[in-house]
Amino acid sequence: MSSYSQHYHTIVIGVGGMGSAVCYELAKRGQRVLGIERYDVPNDMGSSHGHTRIIRLAYYEHPSYVILMKRAYELWDEIERRVGQQVLIKTGSIDAGPSDSWVFKGSLKSCVEHGLSHQVMTGKEINTRFPGYNLPHDLMGVFQPDGGFLLPEKVTVSYVEAAHEMGAEIHGREEVLGWEPMGDGVRVLTDRDEYHADSLVITGGAWNSRLLPFLNNLAVPERQVLAWLQPEKPQLFTPERFPVFNVLVPEGRYYGFPVHSIPGFKFGKYHHFEELVDPDDHFREADVEDEEMLREFASRYFPQGAGPTMSLKSCMFTNSPDKHFIIDLHPDYPQVSFAAGFTGHGYKFASVVGEIMADLAERRESRHNIALFNLARLTGQVSELYREMPGMRVTGRREHFQPIRRRPSRRMSRSRHPRLGRYDRRPLGRASLSRRRPARTGRDVRRRTSHPRTAARRTVGGFVRDHSDWFDTQDPRYWNQEDVEPFW
Ligand SMILES: Cc1cc2nc3c(=O)[nH]c(=O)nc-3n(C[C@H](O)[C@H](O)[C@H](O)COP(=O)(O)OP(=O)(O)OC[C@H]3O[C@@H](n4cnc5c(N)ncnc54)[C@H](O)[C@@H]3O)c2cc1C
Repeated sequence: MSSYSQHYHTIVIGVGGMGSAVCYELAKRGQRVLGIERYDVPNDMGSSHGHTRIIRLAYYEHPSYVILMKRAYELWDEIERRVGQQVLIKTGSIDAGPSDSWVFKGSLKSCVEHGLSHQVMTGKEINTRFPGYNLPHDLMGVFQPDGGFLLPEKVTVSYVEAAHEMGAEIHGREEVLGWEPMGDGVRVLTDRDEYHADSLVITGGAWNSRLLPFLNNLAVPERQVLAWLQPEKPQLFTPERFPVFNVLVPEGRYYGFPVHSIPGFKFGKYHHFEELVDPDDHFREADVEDEEMLREFASRYFPQGAGPTMSLKSCMFTNSPDKHFIIDLHPDYPQVSFAAGFTGHGYKFASVVGEIMADLAERRESRHNIALFNLARLTGQVSELYREMPGMRVTGRREHFQPIRRRPSRRMSRSRHPRLGRYDRRPLGRASLSRRRPARTGRDVRRRTSHPRTAARRTVGGFVRDHSDWFDTQDPRYWNQEDVEPFW
């Protein structure tokens, strides 16, 4: 049933990492805001759980992020002061790799270009100063003292509580089934009700392409796994003695944290086994194979941290083709804006993404330079935000509205998908894989990796999405980024 009481200035779909910050920013501006979240607030179904997220000013992905990052730090400070709780813990950050690698060179470049305090160190020097590390001596690293980590669940709670205090309405456990433009505004249909608003912000994380079909293949969910191992020497893994890290080694690119919030030294591998997944239907558990790959890394490069396993958790990245965010107005309906494709490095920006999205909802433009994130770079579909920009091609209107059909919930559970041990030690085939991890085969899942143990399984399952040049760690571009655009 619809009524005037269900008319809002702005509706925000998805109250996760980004959406909670958007609700807060809009409420701060006196807007009547409704945030709608299909799961709990906070939840561990999307991309913003797992206790900690790295924040760093040194930005090897592209120096332009540093300007936004500086504003993000200010806004993290603002929410801490407002709720009287610490959500950001500084440890310093290490970005390390071979001397000619994009991680080391990119990090150094961003520090130099933006005048950030930093120290260049060899692997040997890093190991001496931070004895939890055991990097190859000839690796080169940048230590930047402002790096650290955020506490994502606490952040979501802080933003939601602060938004509530300022009059925002947030509904958990309510799924948006579809939306459509209505005049200059929008109508939003959920599994409980129907709402109207002047503006719509879509921050649906891994589900964004369900709400905006043009993001299909542009914002692609990928399974990740995180490990927490109990250090043999816990005193070396405290926030005071162990900076967060991004390291590029022959096995791939990894990131990690000191012990915090729950037991164990936490780390993960970017793009893990490179499994693209359906966010509603994939293997949400973590298993021995995930654990072994991660443990091998820890044993080699953080041996004092590689004690008994405390926890393993899966999560989803949502990758864009060039790994830069996609933040824009809808190409046909400027009252609709969206933030997508954060590709495993977006959380630290959530505070400033809140400000950007609030700007777009309120004024259809942002005070921040977000040209790097425009949709047209990927599709040619130019939004009102960039119509005047030279070189942007304006495309015609297309039919976009597709109400989201309600699918039966197919969440994984151990009882429905019993673990069978390590891939049965039988020749791999559709049957053995599908018995164990049903969602990894089939039309929605592509598995591609250069990891030797899993390379054999590349052929299992039908790959429907071809981004075959994305993640090949044997590709020299992965190591030397000098002449390559985009940055990966
Ligand atoms: C393992 C892992 C490690 C990471 N590490 C870092 C890091 O160290 N530093 C960093 O900066 N970034 C990191 N990232 C990336 C970062 O966490 C994500 O980019 C960020 O959390 C994405 O936030 P989001 O709001 O887009 O998605 P989410 O937080 O998942 O929020 C989307 C929300 O929308 C809801 N939703 C979707 N569809 C609907 C619907 N139809 N109706 C209602 N609600 C809906 C979902 O339920 C969900 O709660 C990491 C990501 C992962 C997975």
